[in-house]
Amino acid sequence: MSVILVTGGTGLVGKAIQHIIETEPEGSRFGKRPGEKWVFIGSSEADLRNQEQSKKLFEKYKPTHVIHLAALVGGLFINMKKKLDFLRDNILINDNVLHNAHELGCKKVISCLSTCVYPDKVDYPLDETKIHLGLPHESNFGYAHAKRLVDVQNHAYKDQFGDNFTSAIPTNVFGPHDNFDLESAHVLPALMHKCYLAKKNNTPFVVWGSGKPLRQFIYSRDLAKLFIWMLREYDDVEPLILSVGEDEEVSIKQAADAVVKAMGFTGEYRFDTTKADGQFRKPASNKKLLSLIGEFEFTPFDKALEETVQWFQQNYENARI
Ligand code: NDP
Repeated sequence: MSVILVTGGTGLVGKAIQHIIETEPEGSRFGKRPGEKWVFIGSSEADLRNQEQSKKLFEKYKPTHVIHLAALVGGLFINMKKKLDFLRDNILINDNVLHNAHELGCKKVISCLSTCVYPDKVDYPLDETKIHLGLPHESNFGYAHAKRLVDVQNHAYKDQFGDNFTSAIPTNVFGPHDNFDLESAHVLPALMHKCYLAKKNNTPFVVWGSGKPLRQFIYSRDLAKLFIWMLREYDDVEPLILSVGEDEEVSIKQAADAVVKAMGFTGEYRFDTTKADGQFRKPASNKKLLSLIGEFEFTPFDKALEETVQWFQQNYENARI
């Protein structure tokens, strides 16, 4: 029997993994397999910053595998405001998870980095070899350093003990169950929420920044399938970028246009160029992923965005707003 513990199981990516595991046919490529028990946990089960609570959690479920998603996560503006929280909380969470997984002899742990932890000044496209080649962008250095340390820890656990710990590097994720809170949301859910309010209140839809920066967005349900594949097939300490291709970059303006269309918004719509843009672009290569996974179909951006907008509208009362 394999027990797969998903930390951060109540968040955007965790909920997507749960959705895929529960809706794909049993025994299929991404569905639940015989002998697997999946456990999805949020912070109400254990505050993973806390040593005692983390230890108890691992002793309770005795996982054989861990997909470690739990983290203090947020968009550009909250990252700029709370650098120490992003650094310290994430260091504590990661250390507690990896230490307990090691102590219990877990067969595999996949942790989660992000393309926003890469150096600010680096040759593009990003690939798996460039994480530590320079300082991260100062806007999110707390989060970035904490996340980079996971890769360092994975190598140390492997070198000293032979543990099978690795990490995934997603680009910008979006989908149902995202954080839509305007203070802390990433760009797409923030745009959806703003547009929703503009439509409801008959006010202008104002997008922060110039709209020019480019991003690679991955649908949470596609990312979920990639995590499930990684859990079963990928056994290397080196991280793996989980992303759509570099040729799939979307500008913030294109994304905002798609939100306007999916929401059916017809009011005034403009850009506030006095607000920060963040990094202009940071294309990431998914070459290594494609060379390993074989067949994989990503959901087209507009379709995934429409599904997310629909979910948000239908679940507004219970969404994270
Ligand atoms: P969410 O913010 O949606 O969810 C965060 C999850 O972490 C929740 O389940 C939350 O639990 C849990 N969590 C937070 N703090 C603690 C804590 N102290 N103890 C225990 N659990 C905690 O995050 P995402 O799903 O968006 O992100 C998942 C992973 O992917 C993260 O590691 C993130 O860094 C990474 N990532 C995300 C990207 C994105 O665009 N969203 C991009 C690239 C990487 P609860 O809700 O119950 O409090």
